[in-house]
Amino acid sequence: MVPASAATDVLNRVFGYPAFRGSQGEIIEHVVAGGDALVLMPTGGGKSLCYQIPALVRPGTGVVVSPLIALMQDQVDALRTLGVRANFLNSSQDYEERRIVEAEFVNGELDLLYVAPEGLGVPATQRLLDRGKISLFAIDEAHCVSQWGHDFRPDYLGLSMLHERWPEVPRIALTATATSATREEIATRLQLTGARHFTASFDRPNIQYRIVAKAEPRRQLLDLLRGEHPGDAGIVYCLSRASVEKTAEFLAQQGIPALPYHAGLDSRTRAANQSRFLREDGLVMVATIAFGMGIDKPDVRFVAHLDLPKSVEGYYQETGRAGRDGLPSTAWLAYGLQDVVQQRKMIESADGDANFRRNASQHLDAMLALCETVSCRRAQLLAYFGQTATAGGCGNCDTCLTPPESWDGTVAAQKLLSTVLRLQRERGQKFGAGQSIDILVGKQTDKVWQFRHDELSVFGIGADLRDQEWRGVVRQLLAAGYLAVEGDYGTLVLTGTSAEVLRGQVKVMMRREAPKPARQPRARTSTPAAAAAAADFPAEAAPDFERLRAWRAATAKEQGVPAYVIFHDATLRAIAALRPTSLAQLGTVSGVGQSKLAKFGQQVLDTLAESDSTPAPPAAAAPPATAARSAPATAAPPTGAARSAPAAAPAPDDYLWATDEEPPDEEPPYDDYA
Ligand code: ADP
Ligand code: ZN
Repeated sequence: MVPASAATDVLNRVFGYPAFRGSQGEIIEHVVAGGDALVLMPTGGGKSLCYQIPALVRPGTGVVVSPLIALMQDQVDALRTLGVRANFLNSSQDYEERRIVEAEFVNGELDLLYVAPEGLGVPATQRLLDRGKISLFAIDEAHCVSQWGHDFRPDYLGLSMLHERWPEVPRIALTATATSATREEIATRLQLTGARHFTASFDRPNIQYRIVAKAEPRRQLLDLLRGEHPGDAGIVYCLSRASVEKTAEFLAQQGIPALPYHAGLDSRTRAANQSRFLREDGLVMVATIAFGMGIDKPDVRFVAHLDLPKSVEGYYQETGRAGRDGLPSTAWLAYGLQDVVQQRKMIESADGDANFRRNASQHLDAMLALCETVSCRRAQLLAYFGQTATAGGCGNCDTCLTPPESWDGTVAAQKLLSTVLRLQRERGQKFGAGQSIDILVGKQTDKVWQFRHDELSVFGIGADLRDQEWRGVVRQLLAAGYLAVEGDYGTLVLTGTSAEVLRGQVKVMMRREAPKPARQPRARTSTPAAAAAAADFPAEAAPDFERLRAWRAATAKEQGVPAYVIFHDATLRAIAALRPTSLAQLGTVSGVGQSKLAKFGQQVLDTLAESDSTPAPPAAAAPPATAARSAPATAAPPTGAARSAPAAAPAPDDYLWATDEEPPDEEPPYDDYA
């Protein structure tokens, strides 16, 4: 085969891929020719090749600015396994180590050099770069320059100097975050206004989006993990450090290997947990949002949120860490009344000016709209990024798979709002959702007696709905802004638009609360990637796949690199399905480049040949507590007997206020990378 261009040749030879994906070819051609580019592509879209291939084709060294010091070693290891001459410079190295890398750069012995943004601000680094030849600058995670964004890194602001100091060197900025506002901000701040913009579709068809009503979050999480993802690697996001610790402990008690990660852990523990997550199969990382940027583990099978993300952008980024390999994955979020109350409170009490609060509120409103939508989640997500989805729904989100019923909640809304109104008008009192709901359903509690709330005319007028349904009503009214919360106790208050509902001027449509959150069917073959994966992977290939995984685990361990640096799951599956008997045949598999073929080819063939004489090893990802996993979910109550009782729905007030969470602490996102 005659390669069409130098770039295609590198793609085939070095990376072992047959063809470019999406707009990769166009972007690479543009940068190879010396043009500047701003690339917006979802996680897993294939951004790295967009700068790695031009760096290999153009003379000199490609300098990659990356905020992720802890991951540079892995990035460099992955490139070296491909036979690419790569290294990095950052604060983790001692003088001697740095000197070696500097000499490699000056002598033109590097194709790629990774540096931290703060490193580039140092005059000594700038002088060093003057002494070698730079083929291009790649600015990875370019959204870190955005001051409104969730990953802001002050050092990124200094990167506009690259253009001033090395005007002739092409620059390519890449990010997976992309509202048009962020895009403009990146272009302006990095002085990339003349750059060509490449915007890929932000759809991630292999990710199944699901948002469920929160009842007993840890129990619901456990059901998800046991029922759909036994033995899978995944990430569980929590808002507070305390809840990270508790959740990780809870999962471990249930026999699911889980590690905690948050900015309150010392840096050694964080690095160790991150490294284990990347290197070992089937670990669950329970983390605050401090974890995840740049994690390029391809086989993260689920991302679960136990708390509401602060913005759709954050949600998209975090869920995007699932399924980079294109295989079916789950994005699951449990969301409840308490989330709305808590986030509104946090915005109200945050430092910052009115502008900041307005901005935060808008972000939250968009997130709530996504949670409460009765139409396709994917369509709504894409619309947020200014893109349109295929009409008629995606077929791979909860609302498409089991369309929610909606009901006319106007009367219910009026009952709830009048309760709030009467408490205030007739008694001069403000209460939280729990007490308001007790009044509506006519519950005789101590607190009702104490305040003689049974004498209110609204007492018992809402007995037609269950507690859970009333919480749904409150949540949706809060989300829609017909109701607000106030103060430390999260008391309910009316808003400027409440009167419209009370007067019957607007109709309030609501989502029906599922009595018990139903498990969604896995749409295993509903996406092109999933369908292809299933079609190419006959059941007979499974034992060989497990054998190859066992070989890969041993090899990765021996070399001290993550397993996916050796070969991705997708490549091993293709090998198992093909069962090549020669190196030449093995070389045709996507993901097997020249260097990997030379390094591992014979071992792979030997592993396959052995399978004729030996039984397959047990599945590599076999969970340690197999017995517990296969038992029905109700067999192992998490804590105490109370939770396993069928009617153990938390009392409304407990649910809202007597939470076992500490007040959520704000995670400074960047103190993790220092
Ligand atoms: P991003 O940085 O955009 O999240 P990566 O660059 O890590 O994505 O690429 C995601 C995955 O897709 C990687 O495993 C990569 O090797 C693979 N990939 C990228 N481009 C191609 C291609 N043209 N053909 C096959 N696989 C590709
Ligand atoms: Zn859908």
